[in-house]
Amino acid sequence: MLDVLKTFHIGQQHSGVSTGKDWLPGSGGNIATWSPVDGASLTTVTAASREDYDQVMAKAQEAFLYWRTIPAPARGEVVRQIGMALREHKDALGKLVSYEMGKSLQEGWGEVQEMIDICDFAVGLSRQLHGLTMHSERPGHRMYEQWHPLGITGIISAFNFPVAVWSWNSMLALVCGNVCVWKPSEKTPLTAIACQHIIAGVFAANNVPEGVSCLVTGGREVGEWLANDGRVPLVSATGSTRMGKSVGAAVGARLGRALLELGGNNAIIISEHADLDMSLIGAVFGAVGTAGQRCTSTRRLIIHEKVYDAFRDKLVKAYGQLRIGNPLDQNNHVGPLIDQDAVKAYLHSIEQVKAQGGRFIVEGGVLEGAGYESGCYVKPCIAEVKNDYAIVQHETFAPILYIMKYSTTEEAIALQNGVPQGLSSAIMTLNLREAEQFLSAAGSDCGIANVNIGTSGAEIGGAFGGEKETGGGRESGSDAWRAYMRRQTNTINYSAKLPLAQGIKFDL
Ligand code: NAD
Repeated sequence: MLDVLKTFHIGQQHSGVSTGKDWLPGSGGNIATWSPVDGASLTTVTAASREDYDQVMAKAQEAFLYWRTIPAPARGEVVRQIGMALREHKDALGKLVSYEMGKSLQEGWGEVQEMIDICDFAVGLSRQLHGLTMHSERPGHRMYEQWHPLGITGIISAFNFPVAVWSWNSMLALVCGNVCVWKPSEKTPLTAIACQHIIAGVFAANNVPEGVSCLVTGGREVGEWLANDGRVPLVSATGSTRMGKSVGAAVGARLGRALLELGGNNAIIISEHADLDMSLIGAVFGAVGTAGQRCTSTRRLIIHEKVYDAFRDKLVKAYGQLRIGNPLDQNNHVGPLIDQDAVKAYLHSIEQVKAQGGRFIVEGGVLEGAGYESGCYVKPCIAEVKNDYAIVQHETFAPILYIMKYSTTEEAIALQNGVPQGLSSAIMTLNLREAEQFLSAAGSDCGIANVNIGTSGAEIGGAFGGEKETGGGRESGSDAWRAYMRRQTNTINYSAKLPLAQGIKFDL
């Protein structure tokens, strides 16, 4: 894997602070990086100090004055080239994502593919950042709206999608005419450094100045600087609900804009009318893929009483076949958790499930021995629970699946909605009536509601995000770009008179 690091010019020590192709030394302390795959120490990354951060912000402010004047399609051309550079680096970057974060190689490559997809989407969008025209009530007047860039977009990202979330935000922000300052997770700084090297080449070839896309590596305090910084009109933050509440409050206190993408507690309803074999694949991939560390991971299965026993037996059998091990080995289904803290949280949740009355039908535990030296490999497990247990109401970022029984569709929807989070949801059914009921205003309260697809994963073409404690933000496709721009309403008087709106008379 060290070869992959070399591909991205990462040696024993690397700065985590950059304004483009320039790297500041980074005087905010060291981040020691390691891999949850094999426990190997990788390299030391130097984090941003407050002085480094301010230096980066000054560059970003200066760059914005230039970047906002570049026509959007020309900005799109730069993003198109970023997409091409990502294609060239898909293999290496995907491997690094897998090695640094611990997700399967397929998912590592998939994450880079998602970055390529959003580049393509953003290129098309660069010619479609359009507003409406309205009919003025006044004669000789024209009224329309246009969308302008906001300024600096602060991007705070989580460890589990270490690079895709940045690209969802930055590629849209860039075509919209914003400049970006990215604070990646302190758990995955190497993939962020790799991305910075990839875009630096494209920027240099296009004479894009320093400051258009910046990197400030560090812990939560660097995120707090962004949240409290009046120079940052938009902070897009992806991570836990705890983090989102803090960022939302800080940004709100200065009346900035926060785009929040927070935790989920996603359920699949397995109806009596479901195709059970298809449901099984959706449920198991959703629960154990990325070792249960996706915001859209399936945490709960709400199973109709008529198929409950049959489906539970299928689940137990499928879990017995899961291969847990090195995620770079494509024969394995489940890789490691991100670190020892995540393992502790997993074990604590298992204790809580038992203490609160849950019954495990597939037991959990930490794996030891050859291949598991990092101490981060855990067994995916399944517990029969009640939806109102405190632990079930809480998102544990690990492969713990809760199952429960229902008898009516209304009851299933109430259980599905009966958690503080509102990200992804699904129903498995071949019955049109209950599918439509689930999608109706009286159905799922989540930002994502699927039929005959699990909860996990999404295409970039749709707006991505969720309600309630998931934060309400929308990123990626559809018209999510609007969050990155400011709307201006323009009224132009081409008559020789100055009539006032609402017919108000004012004569001198
Ligand atoms: P986390 O909240 O611990 O950290 C996320 C990022 O926020 C990191 O960069 C961290 O340094 C920063 N941060 C932490 N506290 C902060 C604060 N008070 N102010 C500013 N920045 C702060 O989350 P994590 O463990 O990296 O990621 C897992 C969480 O992310 C899960 O809850 C998951 O559901 C969520 N997530 C949500 C989405 C989504 O789109 N809804 C996507 C991915 C992950």
